[in-house]
Order: sequence, then structure tokens, then C-alpha cells
Amino acid sequence: MTGITTTDLVKRFDDVTAVDGVDLNVRDGEFLVLVGPSGCGKSTTLRLLAGLESPTEGAVEIADSDVTDTPPGDRDVAMVFQSYALYPHMTARENMTFGVRTATDFGSGEVDDRVAEAAAILDIEDLLDRTPAALSGGEQQRVAIGRALVRDPEVFLMDEPLSNLDAKLRVQMRAELAELHAELQTTTLYVTHDQVEAMTLGDRVAVMYDGELQQVAPPQRLYDAPDTRFVAEFIGSPGMNTVEATLERRGDDAVATWGSNQLTLPSAGRVADRVDGRAVLGVRPEDLRQERDGPLRMEITVTEPLGDSLLTRGTVGGAEMEVSLPARSPVGVGDAVSLAADPERLHLFDPESGEALYHSSTELDATEAEPLLADGSPERR
Ligand code: ATP
Repeated sequence: MTGITTTDLVKRFDDVTAVDGVDLNVRDGEFLVLVGPSGCGKSTTLRLLAGLESPTEGAVEIADSDVTDTPPGDRDVAMVFQSYALYPHMTARENMTFGVRTATDFGSGEVDDRVAEAAAILDIEDLLDRTPAALSGGEQQRVAIGRALVRDPEVFLMDEPLSNLDAKLRVQMRAELAELHAELQTTTLYVTHDQVEAMTLGDRVAVMYDGELQQVAPPQRLYDAPDTRFVAEFIGSPGMNTVEATLERRGDDAVATWGSNQLTLPSAGRVADRVDGRAVLGVRPEDLRQERDGPLRMEITVTEPLGDSLLTRGTVGGAEMEVSLPARSPVGVGDAVSLAADPERLHLFDPESGEALYHSSTELDATEAEPLLADGSPERR
């Protein structure tokens, strides 16, 4: 088993707690993406796994052995950095092989074979004798990944490896990385601040905020049933709308009210009993639609045509909200539109702790929810 496990991992720099009690489990062969806003502690977590930082508290296990005090060179991990970190005076081939013989027990024939194999996988066979200055950004990135492949590590650790590439190349390299992982099945932890990258690449995605893990789950589950308000607002483009509302039981259901706007939450009566008349309602921009006599009224302040849809911002009962309308909808700034929400796509969060109280999709049909393992984590798909 070549998984990674951290136990109560803490890293403090003077008065900054960069990593605050992280229990992370990357399964054997899994591609796990660690995502979160700038400064939340992602890179520090990765550096702790690589051995480039030592933890203030806690332990790191790789492939079932405790490596907390093991130097980086003895951990059998290969890192790929945002900066590529290629030596400018060396050719691509020299960059890929530099230090390999001392770090591994490969003989020189084997190293040559491994370079040829990695170059074939990454389609850089014709570029091996060029220096980085003669390579495009995408080609340099392939060489940096090739260097990691040649080492044949137990684990890949990748820190924002695509963020220096232009948008089109990022999408292409993203697909290539996904293909590469499907082929090699090497356990990978991948750090990014880009939630689209996280959702498209990860078998599971770990969302981090302020040094702590908020939720670790398959991408669709994060989107459908976020555990916290932070995850709800962070995942999605744009993220979920959230608004403080009063909550009252009405039969089996509950009614959320803010201003003159009201939404009925199916089967949320029991949730309304548990809270003190107040909750944060969540609804995604794509789960709202324009409907004559709909229960919500939005004053439009901005429209953004995205081509395939019209993203519309405005205020609903004093709260800022975004709605994804069909492309070419005949609405403009200053208009007031009536909206309705998909009743099976509503969410409630605790106003103080931010924890999820209810997702109407899982409440209506609990069998739709992903089965949970004994430790509370979702079962791998
Ligand atoms: P980004 O996406 O911007 O790279 P990140 O999520 O990777 O952010 P980290 O680089 O892990 O965040 O930093 C987490 C926190 O720890 C930040 O507040 C940062 O300023 C602090 N930090 C990181 N390294 C050090 C250090 N060597 N000394 C002091 N503070 C540090």
C-alpha cells in the first residue's frame, strides 16, 4: 500500500499556525487534490509530506511507514513545483536524470530506459537535447513531470504545477495529467487554489481553509452536499449563494423568509425545530430560474454574458445573489425579475458554526447520498 496518512499534523511559524491539526488520508493509487484559498496552508502541508518542513506536532506516514523524521531524499516521493525548477544550463535529458543515480539504485542503462519511457509518455522525445530556454512553458512543464516520472516514486506531490501556463494549455495539460494518472496509478497529492482544476482532476478533493480541512469527498458530493458554508461558497463557479433567513416549520416542511422573499424547503420541518428560528439558506446560481410570479424578486445590478449562459448578479431581499439564466435572456441592469428555485437543490447552514444542517436532495431521498465508511468518509467510487 502506498497511501499517505497524516495524523493531527500541525505546523506553526512563530505566531502563524499554517497547518492546524490535519488528518488526511490519500489512498493507494488515488489522485487527491488539496484546494483552498491563498494562504490556507496547502503548500505547507505538501512540504511537510515531502520532508521539506518538519511538523510542530503530528505524524506523516507514507506507504505504511512513519516518515515524520525521515529526510526528504529517503521518502521516495517526487515533487513537481509551480516554478518547474529546471536547471537552465542543463538539457531536458540532464534535468530529468540529474541526481537520479544517487537518489535511486538504478544503473545507468536503466536510467536511460526510464528517460526514454517517460519521454515517450510525455511526447517530448524530440526535445531531450534542448535547454529550458529553448522550450515553451508547456514543454518545460512536461520535462519537470518527466523528471518526477524517471524516479518512479511511491508518491507524486504536485504544487500548482499548471499555474504558469496560459488558460488553453492548462486545460490541455490537465487532461494529460489525468491520462497519465490513469495509466500509472501512482498515489498523487495535487495542490491548487483553482476549484475547477480540483473538481476535474481529483478522485477526491480536500478543501482546506485557515489551516484546517473542511471536507474530503468526491467532486460531485462536494458540489451536491457541502459540509460547510465555506465549501458551498468555494466550490462552483460562481459558488453557492447564501443568505441569512428566518426559518419556520410548516407541516413537514420549513419556510425560509428574508425580506419579502420566501422559499419552502421540503421535509425540513425537523431542521426548523432544531434551530432557533434562524438559518443560512443556500442555493446555487444554476438552481434558480426566471419564473413569472416566482417567490423571489431580484433587482439586477450586473449581467455577464458567458456565451452558453447569462450570469446575472443582483439583490434579493437586500442580499447579493447570482443567477445563471439561459443565454440571450432578455434582461438588463435595472430590471426586476421573478425567480423560483429548484426545491430539490436547497441547503441550510448553521449561522454560527457554518456547518450544513440540510440538503434537500439527500433529505428527499437518502439513498442518493453516497454511502459512508465507518470513519465517516465517503466510500470510493
Ligand atoms: P498559496 O496558494 O498562496 O501558495 P497556501 O495555501 O499554499 O497559499 P502556505 O504557503 O502553506 O499557503 O502558507 C500558509 C500560511 O503560513 C500563510 O499565512 C503563510 O504566510 C505562512 N507561512 C508559510 N511559510 C512560512 C514561513 N516559512 N515562515 C512564516 N510563515 C510562513
